[in-house]
Amino acid sequence: MRKRIVAGNWKMNKTYEEALTLVSEIDNMVQNEVTGDVTVVIAPPFPYLQSVGKLTQGNDKLHLAAQNVSEHESGAFTGEVSARMLQSVGAEYVIIGHSERRMYHHEDAQTLYKKLKASLAQGLTPIFCCGEPLEERDADRHFEYVGQQLHDSLSYLSNEEFDRVLIAYEPIWAIGTGRTASSQQAQEMHAYIREQLSRLFDAEAAYNTSILYGGSCNPGNAKELFAQKDVDGGLIGGASLKSRDFTDIIKSF
Ligand code: PEP
Repeated sequence: MRKRIVAGNWKMNKTYEEALTLVSEIDNMVQNEVTGDVTVVIAPPFPYLQSVGKLTQGNDKLHLAAQNVSEHESGAFTGEVSARMLQSVGAEYVIIGHSERRMYHHEDAQTLYKKLKASLAQGLTPIFCCGEPLEERDADRHFEYVGQQLHDSLSYLSNEEFDRVLIAYEPIWAIGTGRTASSQQAQEMHAYIREQLSRLFDAEAAYNTSILYGGSCNPGNAKELFAQKDVDGGLIGGASLKSRDFTDIIKSF
């Protein structure tokens, strides 16, 4: 069933103490101010997952995500963290295919597919990111580019597996740049993504998939973005590091 979701990706920010303060503030604000039906997901850095998870346990709106996962199940993979480990410390969601991981860690479509499989096997909900660089948008190839990303990592999943996947559309030119996609650009791409998903899987699965927008989303633009028919929420970077801004974005539904 399609859900309204706002997820905060903290990336490599905050000390342990700062992380605990931030999550406590978010927990309080969400408890006291958020009345609508919205799922809030927080993705802190790995070392803070368990503590952040414990602080959110009493709040059924708040859920825990990891920012990455290994494609391997277990074994001699120094520095890696498996889906089973994430699940064992309380993570329910995992971000897969963020453009920063594709770019700086050379994660390709096959690797992302393996990460999806590994996560689904442990009952984690993947948030699969896609989005085009500026040169593809400027050359008017953005639809093709995103369609290919979806095809190359998702098409090997079964319909049952795909039912548990969320999508985040994040145009790279809008991430951390202060330059947001217009609500029309976001809607157009989200509708296109849904259409591609209905080809790869089926119309019902595509209709039920939550598709989040990410890229310089803030309290000033969230309302208009979230009002679009095919925008089911947001994946928030910078603004998720400030409890007030993050809560105001959540309240934009
Ligand atoms: C992100 O990195 O997922 C993101 C959307 O970042 P920002 O909100 O800072 O653009």
